[in-house]
Amino acid sequence: MNIPDVTRAQTQDLLDFIDASPSPWHAVQTCETRLTTAGFSRLDEADRWTLSAGDRRYVVRGGSSIIAFIIGSQPAATTGLRLIGAHTDSPGLRLKPKPAEDAAGMVRLGVEVYGGPILATFADRDLSLAGRVNVRVPGGFATRLVRFAEPLLRLPNLAIHMNREVNENGLKFNKQTELPLLLGVSEDGTKAEARFRQPIAEALGVEPGDLLTWELNAYDTQKGAFWGVDREFVANSQLDNLASCHAALSALLATPEPAATCLCAFFDHEEVGSESASGAGGSFVADVLSRLSASAGLDGEDQRRMLAQSFFISADMAHGWHPNFPAAYEPCHHALVNAGPVIKSNANQRYSTSAETAARFMAICEKAGVPCQQYAHRTDLGCGSTIGPIVAARLGIPSVDVGSPMWAMHSIRESAGVLDHGYMIAALTTAFSN
Ligand SMILES: [Zn+2]
Repeated sequence: MNIPDVTRAQTQDLLDFIDASPSPWHAVQTCETRLTTAGFSRLDEADRWTLSAGDRRYVVRGGSSIIAFIIGSQPAATTGLRLIGAHTDSPGLRLKPKPAEDAAGMVRLGVEVYGGPILATFADRDLSLAGRVNVRVPGGFATRLVRFAEPLLRLPNLAIHMNREVNENGLKFNKQTELPLLLGVSEDGTKAEARFRQPIAEALGVEPGDLLTWELNAYDTQKGAFWGVDREFVANSQLDNLASCHAALSALLATPEPAATCLCAFFDHEEVGSESASGAGGSFVADVLSRLSASAGLDGEDQRRMLAQSFFISADMAHGWHPNFPAAYEPCHHALVNAGPVIKSNANQRYSTSAETAARFMAICEKAGVPCQQYAHRTDLGCGSTIGPIVAARLGIPSVDVGSPMWAMHSIRESAGVLDHGYMIAALTTAFSN
């Protein structure tokens, strides 16, 4: 299989992007770094906004959702907006507010299950901690990002000699009693709580007692890798959905002077239903759009003209066909890895795609010179959903759900195709100028 150099480089950049983003807060920071390097400047929701054509700006809400945009050269009321959405969060294990527990001389950290991970894949991985911590400072508190590069934690499997049926029955964990992560030994009577606080305090250069609260997830320290006989696949954590964030951001950065205003909106909390202040079900995107309209001097009438001519692409990963499990797939809707972006449809509106928006995305792919595929879930299986229907309903704009095909969605080590990532960037770049 021939992989163009530019596609190889784009996919290596994706792996670097994910490796720099072990939590949703880090993902937003990674986006911010790339945006500021490309000349984007930050807007604060608490300030008054004044915007003009050509402006490149971004705004962050809740530390883990970000909307970046370029103001188009043409009036928004006549061009509409080009919006691409994705999500920054991935399913996994989150530390509890008081996680440390002494279990007969071992320090364990209690976790909550965030979203729907394949829990068995978290066993025997070189896990560590990443996220954000609030520390006491004079007069209040400050929020700091923290990440440990070295493996701090582990969820060791039970030996097969004590779990004889594991290969027949599958690997199952009781979420309360069998998922806590091993951190260390509580020697010399050192309290588990102190063993937990000490490395975090050290990493942040503060006193252990000044750590107030945290949002920390376990992440896999193994870096992303190419695999396959022609290195035509990639493996990494969080391909769902940082691959879509990376593709959309790359497309925005490749769009210097668009006619229509182009936006990327990356939301936290998709994996838990999107209903939060910074999630896709919150007011974030609607608030940003109304401020863009106000800044452009659009009245209510023009604002609705703008929305009516807009197009929203919800970019989230799709299920690639797995040759070992053919019965899991709808026989007429195989989405093959390395065969192009997938348009996802569901009659019950689990995806926002209509026949019309699907045709529009097909035309975009054709213009970009990339193949595209169509996916529908088996009728007798429950279908997942995305931010697509939520944002489409909030804004009332035409929307399509698309994504690159991948394997092992919600595993801590997912896989996808190298060609597909290049195709998706090309399609989304074309969408911004279409
Ligand atoms: Zn997703």
